[in-house]
Amino acid sequence: MAERPFIYRFSTDLRLDDHAGLAAAASRGGVLPTIVIDDALAVRLKASPRRAAFFCSAVAALDAELREMGSRLVVRRGAPGKILAEIARATGAGGAAWSASYHAQGIDDDRRLQSELEEAGLVALVVHDAPAIPPEESAAARGADGAGYRAFAPYFERWWKLAVASYENPLLLRFTASEPGGEPLPQAREFGSPDEGMAAGSAAARVLLERFLADRAAQYGAAAAIPSENGTSQLSAHISFGTISARTIARRVRERLGDPFALGEERTSLRLFLRALARRDFFLQLSWFFPGATEQPLQEKMQGFALAQDHPGLDAWRAGKTGYPLVDAGIRQLHQTGWMHPHVRAVAASLLCFDLSVDWRVGRDEWNRWLVEDDPAVATGNWQWIAGVGADMAQFPRIYNPLRQRRRYDPDGTYARRWIPELRHVPREAWHGRADDSPQLSLALFERDAYPQPVVDHAVAARAFLARYRAFVSP
Ligand SMILES: Cc1cc2nc3c(=O)[nH]c(=O)nc-3n(C[C@H](O)[C@H](O)[C@H](O)COP(=O)(O)OP(=O)(O)OC[C@H]3O[C@@H](n4cnc5c(N)ncnc54)[C@H](O)[C@@H]3O)c2cc1C
Repeated sequence: MAERPFIYRFSTDLRLDDHAGLAAAASRGGVLPTIVIDDALAVRLKASPRRAAFFCSAVAALDAELREMGSRLVVRRGAPGKILAEIARATGAGGAAWSASYHAQGIDDDRRLQSELEEAGLVALVVHDAPAIPPEESAAARGADGAGYRAFAPYFERWWKLAVASYENPLLLRFTASEPGGEPLPQAREFGSPDEGMAAGSAAARVLLERFLADRAAQYGAAAAIPSENGTSQLSAHISFGTISARTIARRVRERLGDPFALGEERTSLRLFLRALARRDFFLQLSWFFPGATEQPLQEKMQGFALAQDHPGLDAWRAGKTGYPLVDAGIRQLHQTGWMHPHVRAVAASLLCFDLSVDWRVGRDEWNRWLVEDDPAVATGNWQWIAGVGADMAQFPRIYNPLRQRRRYDPDGTYARRWIPELRHVPREAWHGRADDSPQLSLALFERDAYPQPVVDHAVAARAFLARYRAFVSP
């Protein structure tokens, strides 16, 4: 008798290798690969044109890989519950599996879909695929009450020691011959985006990882914070759409760490890189165990702290015209590429949250319009961290000085000049100045009306914020 099919519903896990969800589906029957473009996904893709282009390119690459294996992706548009039940009826599939979401809305949608399918007599499996270490595993290892971690340092100590599972066994993957009929592959135009021909898909992700490991990983410790050096992996969009699994990356890096000939600098770098990867797992588990923190500060004591929705400098911040070159370069890099250097993100976010005293949610939602990455739980976790209302347990918020940061991490303005055309003519030597200098001040560029004055005086604004913060937390 022919094997009963089992549906696998792809979402932000667009690959075939090392795939916890596919492995779970394959253990139940011949896999019927499906993708459902529902309203929630369409909203996230319409929010950012480059995200839509990346997604469509990754879906096309996945379909091509499936065709090489004698299968194909069944594409449908609409409500997942109705569509998956219909496909199961048409093919005799015993149920469906998909990978878990980690933001509040996604977790609710998963639960609803699971009940709908179970009510229709189907098996519904929600599988942890996105993190290298699933939330329940780190929580169980913690041993307490099975709740998640709220602080990163103890989380990382635990994460570091836990084994990373592998789902690489190709024998697990068998596809069904059932053909329920589908719709055309998604096209970027459908989400209001020009087709940018982005290199997405698992082959592109593997190349990026291997290049990073070969060329830059050993110097990550020294180069990761320097935005002009491209010292980070730039894997975040791939990781967020699952074109490569966090497990694969963690295992490859751990293998390198196991090399007895690895030098000290390389070991430190690899450990720091794993720490970055663990930070993603940390934010996913945070959102999994504390979904209320999607919109409200994780730190209950900060929930009544007043935050502005607007500021006279907000439009300049959005446009990358704050008059602080490091911040403006980062925001323009984001506008032009869909990615911003991680360290610059922290400085730019700090300027919004502290110097402008604007609500972190305003910044998060603004960047959501530009980023290729689609990881709402990670976005929220980072924004809350920077704003001093989330998992960072420092006594006072860490306010970055955007001038000092520029001098330290972009001392000759290489990064700023790359992204800010108005500053390209400023010679390298002119960028070296006192800690509180900025090139526009020392070079009197206002006369040329080329680059704006700072929207706020950092020292005054930061002090005012801290005074308000102190009065709130210890009145
Ligand atoms: C204010 C702010 C907002 C951010 N918003 C997002 C977002 O919307 N989506 C998103 O995916 N990341 C976000 N990040 C985290 C990080 O900056 C990005 O993932 C960045 O693209 C990593 O670049 P990379 O891949 O070169 O990193 P690498 O340094 O090479 O790190 C490797 C991987 O580790 C993970 N990682 C690194 N840093 C972090 C971090 N701070 N938090 C969580 N995971 C991390 C990422 O998956 C990354 O690809 C934000 C950070 C800040 C400070």
